[in-house]
Amino acid sequence: MAYCLQCGHQALQQIPDGDSKVRLVCPNCAYIHYENPKIICGALVVADNNVLLCRRAIEPRYGYWTLPAGFMEIGETIVQGAARETVEEADAIAVNSHLYCIFDIPDIGQIYMLYLSDLKDGKFGTGVESLECALFAEADIPWDEIAFEAVKRTLKHYFEDRKSYLQHSDFPLHQESIGKDKRIKRY
Ligand SMILES: [Zn+2]
Repeated sequence: MAYCLQCGHQALQQIPDGDSKVRLVCPNCAYIHYENPKIICGALVVADNNVLLCRRAIEPRYGYWTLPAGFMEIGETIVQGAARETVEEADAIAVNSHLYCIFDIPDIGQIYMLYLSDLKDGKFGTGVESLECALFAEADIPWDEIAFEAVKRTLKHYFEDRKSYLQHSDFPLHQESIGKDKRIKRY
């Protein structure tokens, strides 16, 4: 059962007038609760050709490896959000950030916006949401223990792109959607 966020009355699933989708609608105050996709911002942080990964101390995917990334907050830009997540999850400073991978996941209403960044002074720790953080060479990436498809794809793009480009600022932007079948759709 769902309740109105505005007045607390029991809300109903219905299609509002002039709309085409079912929403939570309050019959008392007419408030309509719109649910829209959420942006996950994060960074692939690189130091001396190694990439910074964090082992998750939270669900979902507890114990699996990920990039520093999380839901964007009101009041910050995307790149600020990516930098904040890097501090929170890896106690590290991401610098020279370039937008690198965008993933739409329409089935669950998420959009990943991931930057390619350098690790400032090569320093990192372990953030509160991580069990441990570490720098990985390509050969040591725990591919079977990567938390999310978007993270796996970002790592694969990076190791492929760095064969062709010397400067991170020259790396191309990757824009894909991830569906239930995990088929790659490029724009
Ligand atoms: Zn209401």
